[in-house]
Amino acid sequence: MFEAVFSGGVVKRAIEKGSIEVHVHDLRDFTTDKHRQVDDRPYGGEEGMVFKPEPIFAAVEHVRRSPLTPVYLLSPQGRKLDSRLAEELAGHSQVVLICGRYEGVDERVSENLAADEISIGDYVLTGGELAAMVVVDAAVRFVPGVVGKEESVRHDSFIEGRLDYPQYTRPRDFRGMKVPQVLFSGDHKKIETWRQKKALEKTRQRRPDLLEHRPLSPEEKKGLDPIQEERKRR
Ligand code: SAM
Repeated sequence: MFEAVFSGGVVKRAIEKGSIEVHVHDLRDFTTDKHRQVDDRPYGGEEGMVFKPEPIFAAVEHVRRSPLTPVYLLSPQGRKLDSRLAEELAGHSQVVLICGRYEGVDERVSENLAADEISIGDYVLTGGELAAMVVVDAAVRFVPGVVGKEESVRHDSFIEGRLDYPQYTRPRDFRGMKVPQVLFSGDHKKIETWRQKKALEKTRQRRPDLLEHRPLSPEEKKGLDPIQEERKRR
């Protein structure tokens, strides 16, 4: 599964450039019994299976390069992944992600090994692998040098508490749908003001919650004024 995702795109290039390393470990390699058993029936009697703690502790103790390396358990019960958490993860020299399956993971892993649990959303996946790949993909974008121009990360959605502005490319006129005139003006200041206005307008419409606790800069206020006036007129 990991091979399919990490053998292409930005993550692959980051690995090739040596900006990041991704290592995938099979918990069965950290078992000591003949059947290489990683799961067992839940105490208290229930359907399904639960990941045993021993292989997980052994695997983490093996891969962790320092006691300061944070360990996270992927779980629908965890802290919701967002841009801030992705950037925080990118700041560590090593991060260990534990993927669960079945009914989940013995609670002692969460209580005594993991610094925190990370969720990628309020839904339940069949396993933590997809979630781990989402976490890696979101975090690597914050590793310096991974995304072409760091500037392009800076104006991405959520970074400055708002959504990204709309983008256009050729053709200038597609079936009568035209690219906004301002983008051909060559006036960088004007283009920047227009982009800020559009980004805020989109954020207001789609994610007003993002703007709730975010003070607007004087330039942004200037950009928003026409939107508010337009609204009043409607
Ligand atoms: N019984 C668990 C519960 O309801 O909280 C769900 C277990 S789920 C079927 C199996 C594994 O998938 C979890 O241990 C976790 O690693 C992963 N997983 C499922 N949903 C996830 C989510 N939203 N975010 C992160 N990991 C998730």
